[in-house]
Amino acid sequence: MATRRSRAERPGNVQPASGDGRVSAPVEDYLKAIYDLAGREGTASTNDVAARLGVAPASVTGMIRRLSEQGLLEYERYRGVRLSESGRLVALRTIRRHRIIESYLTERLGYAWDRVHDEAERLEHAASDELVERMAAALGNPTADPHGAPIPTVDGRVDERRHQTLAELEVGERARMVRVSDKNPGLLRYLAEIDLTPGAEVQVLARAPFDGPLTLAVGGAEPVVGQGLAEQVLVEALDERSADP
Ligand SMILES: [Zn+2]
Repeated sequence: MATRRSRAERPGNVQPASGDGRVSAPVEDYLKAIYDLAGREGTASTNDVAARLGVAPASVTGMIRRLSEQGLLEYERYRGVRLSESGRLVALRTIRRHRIIESYLTERLGYAWDRVHDEAERLEHAASDELVERMAAALGNPTADPHGAPIPTVDGRVDERRHQTLAELEVGERARMVRVSDKNPGLLRYLAEIDLTPGAEVQVLARAPFDGPLTLAVGGAEPVVGQGLAEQVLVEALDERSADP
């Protein structure tokens, strides 16, 4: 976090991070943060960008002006910033590198899934495109990272489907765990403990009233989880509501 903060606070540094025509690490971090925050509406407020990157709103303003001059984004009054097509492509390429690195670290180097995010945050800027593409090829070109996040293609296509959360399932409903955010290591460790990882089948056995905890069936056990946890786990329903849960 400390290294990222100092890097992002040097808005003047916009030279390529490596020799292959790439933009600098801070620019990659800005575009990635904006892509992530913008969602469906396509715009992110400068305050949200500042909070996400842990930098002062004033330095965000300077960087945004520079990125807009480079044609990577547009500033829309009262709404915030919107990535241009080229800005979106840079963001998605950075996300591709991040997710391939996470996949490689878990699958080939034996890292636990709660420890790869911080490594990938650093390596996504340092790794050349050739290294990342060799990693992808060695893994058989995976389409999702260890946390279930879709890996964008080289030409910037990505599965942006919305998924429902575990909290939205009805009692008796079965689902497959699809994805969870990679940013909370404690949550990832707990989910691994109860075998609730991407691909796992899960069923809601009971739900206590008034937003109370959920009893699940997963991995041969019946863990009880809070509503807050269930809201962070994305799932894909497997069938209609089962008559006898
Ligand atoms: Zn990550």
